[in-house]
Amino acid sequence: MIKRNTIQRAMVLDAVNKLKCHATADEVYQIVVNEHPNISKGTVYRNLNQLAEMGEIRKIEVPGNADRFDHRCHDHYHARCLKCGKVFDVEMDYIKDLEKQIKDAHGFQFSGHDLMFKGICPDCQKKEK
Ligand SMILES: [Zn+2]
Ligand SMILES: [Zn+2]
Repeated sequence: MIKRNTIQRAMVLDAVNKLKCHATADEVYQIVVNEHPNISKGTVYRNLNQLAEMGEIRKIEVPGNADRFDHRCHDHYHARCLKCGKVFDVEMDYIKDLEKQIKDAHGFQFSGHDLMFKGICPDCQKKEK
């Protein structure tokens, strides 16, 4: 049993690495099921969440949209296209101590922050022309 779980997890991780584009769980599932028709959607979803908890991949929560999974784990920021919903990496230095700038923390203990910029991606700009 343990072995099977490990293999499935490796398959899911492999798919995320292949996609390299902040894939949704559905997109990851499509890749995995191509090569392994017997795998269920639930298994892929569960493994994605496990991998995120283990720190192998990064889960990006997109408000009002499906979560996305990132093969890059270091702290970095993202931009979301308002037309197609794709998520891109933004080249920008990570602001390490941003939490320290919060004036009234209401007793909160901060563990980090996410930043999501928004706009229209190059592909969608081309389509509009
Ligand atoms: Zn777009
Ligand atoms: Zn990213």
